[in-house]
Amino acid sequence: TIRTRFAPSPTGLLHIGNARAALFNFLFARHHGGEFLLRIEDTDRERSTQQAVDVIFDGLAWMGIEPDEEPVFQSSREARHREVALDLLEKGLAYKCYCTPEELHQMREDAKAKGLPPRYNGMWRDRDPSEAPAGAPFAVRIKAPREGEATINDLVQGEVRVANAELDDMIILRSDGTPTYQHAVVVDDHDMAITHVIRGDDHLTNTFRQAMIYRAMGWDLPRFGHLPLIHGPDGAKLSKRHGAQSVVEFREMGYLPEALCNYLLRLGWGHGDAEILSREEQIKLFDIDGVGRSPSRMDYAKLLHINAVWLRQADDERLTNDVMERFKKMDGVSVDETTRARVAALMPGLKERARTLVELAESAAFLGRQVPLTFNDKAQKLLTPEARTMLGELARDLAAVPDFTPEAIDTTLRTFAEKHELKLGKVAQPVRAAVTGSNTSPGIDATLQALGKDETLARLGAVLH
Ligand code: GLU
Repeated sequence: TIRTRFAPSPTGLLHIGNARAALFNFLFARHHGGEFLLRIEDTDRERSTQQAVDVIFDGLAWMGIEPDEEPVFQSSREARHREVALDLLEKGLAYKCYCTPEELHQMREDAKAKGLPPRYNGMWRDRDPSEAPAGAPFAVRIKAPREGEATINDLVQGEVRVANAELDDMIILRSDGTPTYQHAVVVDDHDMAITHVIRGDDHLTNTFRQAMIYRAMGWDLPRFGHLPLIHGPDGAKLSKRHGAQSVVEFREMGYLPEALCNYLLRLGWGHGDAEILSREEQIKLFDIDGVGRSPSRMDYAKLLHINAVWLRQADDERLTNDVMERFKKMDGVSVDETTRARVAALMPGLKERARTLVELAESAAFLGRQVPLTFNDKAQKLLTPEARTMLGELARDLAAVPDFTPEAIDTTLRTFAEKHELKLGKVAQPVRAAVTGSNTSPGIDATLQALGKDETLARLGAVLH
């Protein structure tokens, strides 16, 4: 069976590039009836706080990307990493390096002077360990092949080659006995029986280093697929100045997880013109061969558009719950049951107009405010003295409506407009201004119904003088 994994380091945020890698691994596994695993690469103890780990768990759960097995914590596997390193040492495929920090520093300086990348010069590769001072600390280095070249047949990048001479004898076990990142990843991927490693193409050089360990251990290599990174709209590396980059930020900005996943999938993977895809469709259609080789550019406007589409399709009750949560953080907006009922009633109209949950909450907030409302500039302009007088008369007609349905409200407004030889908008706009405090809202009939007759009359009454 196909087994993929997402192996984030807990840095305190879930970057959308990583989130996309998680999504691709998840969809690839599901598409092929395989399994998707999660490994927390928490060997940097200082950074790997519980809070940083929770950011990953919460972000994945929010996106609906759940692993099929208990997550593996890399830090818990240190003994096993050490065991494999010592095994390689015993087989003569790795060796003890007794270089001092000063010697290593000198090597880097020498390489720099020759204009070469920093490399280890193989000082202890063939030297007799007995030449080291007794009890001196040592690191374990792998014996890298020195001739020929290594080839990786990457699922996204195609065939990639590197001359072995470019790879030096990297450390797999530090002198304090801790494994290096390159080593831990290989041992874990092997032990977790990972068949496909799908990750960002910033890991491509690591792959050649990691391949040395697989080969030395005589282990089968997984297939690799290196995803092009996400760039900013201008083609430069995605950074803060372009906009939001982490899953939490998008969540707070009012994006739905379905929309973010949908967008991240479409970024760098395509299936004809299909733009909006359900999770079922994504699983059915996704495969790694549809992933493009060139870097994708983040298109915030497109994401916003996709979010608006998903918002319109979203369940009203779910949206109402979200809006009520956001009301808690807004000033002067009630979160009582009356407000909830109003929001729920108006949701079909509200969600047509909003592009994010933030916009949705802002456009719904008037439902939870108390008279006297504050009016925006446009609303103030609509509420002229003549309009206020007119609203007083209209209020009497509305008060006489026995059953406050959208149809009855609509009929009352139309009849009133005809009687005064006014266009409907000339009546509806001041009403809207008076009851919402702004010049935009869903249809006036639905808006008044959501407020209810008493509240409508109270709000109209408050602008009369
Ligand atoms: N922990 C690595 C990272 O966060 C991922 C390593 C991998 O996918 O192999 O970049």
